[in-house]
Amino acid sequence: MILMEQPENKEQDWADWFFVQDCTFIMGVVKLQDLPEFGLPEVAFIGRSNVGKSSLINGLVGRKKIARTSNTPGRTQELNFFSLANMLLLVDLPGYGYAEAPKKLVEKWQKVMKGYLRGRPTLQRAYLLIDSRHGIKENDIEMMKMLDEVALSYQIILTKFDKLKISEQNAVYEKTQAQVKEHPAAHPVVIATSSATGHGMGALRREIAHFAQKPAAE
Ligand code: GDP
Repeated sequence: MILMEQPENKEQDWADWFFVQDCTFIMGVVKLQDLPEFGLPEVAFIGRSNVGKSSLINGLVGRKKIARTSNTPGRTQELNFFSLANMLLLVDLPGYGYAEAPKKLVEKWQKVMKGYLRGRPTLQRAYLLIDSRHGIKENDIEMMKMLDEVALSYQIILTKFDKLKISEQNAVYEKTQAQVKEHPAAHPVVIATSSATGHGMGALRREIAHFAQKPAAE
């Protein structure tokens, strides 16, 4: 009997392999002047507070608690750096639009975050998370404009897609996709995800894995 080989999807296989490798918390940075050069490519995750950012990062690397939720005091104001297999850094940025934080503090975080997004040569891409139920809000647009201005490549990720009715999913996706077209630095393809069901996570892993610094072939 001749065994038929399954068609290979090497890119997805590699991405899936990559994301089950060691993921370790390196450090949290509060002040820009404390930001070290790690010598690795970075991708950053940003979004409004409660958008599902920690759940997404945890889901990507298959850990329950590597990134902490914004309800956890302490780490929320920091830029948190995680190393994935020593080939890529995942950077969890503070959530914005946090209603209960004092204005002065919010301004301080924003300054740090913007400073980082503007002036980080190793930063390859930002993933801007949007809650599927709320769509793109005013402060998301501000963030998108800022990213356009500094010409940092970014991609919109819809989160909590499972929370939409099946009948709503298409319209929300199409609307977001149309809004993205107006932004020059935005990746043209929106990825709809759910950390709860795993929807879209493979596609997102594949996107992110492109930025990993693979060891030189022997
Ligand atoms: P963060 O503040 O952006 O880090 O958001 P969290 O990851 O802490 O998520 C905020 C809330 O949304 C939590 O109650 C999560 O359980 C919930 N959540 C996050 N992602 C999903 C998802 O994909 N589906 C559903 N149904 N709930 C989610």
